[in-house]
Amino acid sequence: GYHQAVKENRHLYNILQELRGNIRVFCRIRPMFNEEAKCTIDYIGSDGSLMVIDPAKPQNAGKIFQFNKVFGPTATQDEVYRDTQDLIRSVMDGYNVCILAYGQTGSGKTHTMCGPLNRSNKDTGINYMALNDVFQISSIRKDVTYEICVQMVVIYNEQVHDLLQIFGSLTGLLIFNYKSTLEIRSCSSNGGLSLPDASMHLVQSSADVLDLMKLGEKNRAFFSTAMNHRSSRSHSVLTVHVHGKDILDSTTCSCLHLVDLAGSERMDKSETTGDRLNEAQHINKSLSCLEDVITALAQKNPHIPYGTSKLTQLLQNSLGGNAKMLMFAHVSPEADSYRETINTLKFAQRASTVELGAAHLNKESSEIRELKEQRDSLKMALAIKE
Ligand code: ADP
Ligand code: MG
Repeated sequence: GYHQAVKENRHLYNILQELRGNIRVFCRIRPMFNEEAKCTIDYIGSDGSLMVIDPAKPQNAGKIFQFNKVFGPTATQDEVYRDTQDLIRSVMDGYNVCILAYGQTGSGKTHTMCGPLNRSNKDTGINYMALNDVFQISSIRKDVTYEICVQMVVIYNEQVHDLLQIFGSLTGLLIFNYKSTLEIRSCSSNGGLSLPDASMHLVQSSADVLDLMKLGEKNRAFFSTAMNHRSSRSHSVLTVHVHGKDILDSTTCSCLHLVDLAGSERMDKSETTGDRLNEAQHINKSLSCLEDVITALAQKNPHIPYGTSKLTQLLQNSLGGNAKMLMFAHVSPEADSYRETINTLKFAQRASTVELGAAHLNKESSEIRELKEQRDSLKMALAIKE
């Protein structure tokens, strides 16, 4: 009886999942830095569409793209987070979630994910707000006890480094051991740890998290200097592990990956020699592997090529299957970014599964409501049996 009920419950969850769609793509356009410069964005529709004009051929019709949502240059961090928030609830319910910031260097990826960490905590990004909510939900839900841990790593040239591993020193300064690298284990089950050797930090408040995030950012900057590269050449991944135990003693184990990707720009030929060439090849490889994985997921291909890069190996448990993914495609609106803007939007368009469409939304939500009710009554039935 119990196992059957659990199985049915899981089945209902899966259907819910299917209805919602597992891949969401939002586009975010940052403000213009130079008000006098030409802007490539012609219009932004409230339905998730936008039109881009080629600045070299302004007389031509623009290209139109369609996403789940487009955030214009005046969108605030809070507005962006509001549309992200339900994914955090999913993590607390036991789903694996991956939130990715994609786009060329300078397009606003770090702004969306981290925001300005070092000032007044105002305008903080998704990372901080998500963890705030994690604690909020865990304090509200009396039926589940949660344990929250975080890891933070950087991937550079197909090597993974722990950003939160610290050693004390005589001078009291914290030293970041950037030379050691980490192995990724494949983990088929939800709870499997893909980075068992990365330091794991139990966190109890958003203040704890902020301290760790500041440390991680500092180490990322230190690492870039030590390795003589710009931080835009590496991917940083903040992983939140959530363990929940409910009143029936059943446990959930899920993780949230928050990923600030390396800049997606194609490198200048003049720049690509020696170390830079090596770097460019690694970035191109890991981003194109990610593209392949996401495109395969969006097209529901039977084979998903996770194994081809460190990044996709690390994110495997939260890409595909029952997991939910949200990608922010970041765009710089200036005319000289036009080519990269088109590249970013084309990729984001391939990744997006907007064909579910707004027309189905209402129907879906009533179906979802019905399924939720069924699920809740199953839960009740379970509670009574115990
Ligand atoms: P990336 O991480 O993609 O290289 P950043 O997040 O560092 O880009 O953004 C580049 C600059 O633009 C930063 O100074 C950042 O503060 C600013 N910026 C980016 N997006 C926004 C935004 N939506 N509103 C205000 N400033 C932004
Ligand atoms: Mg950045």
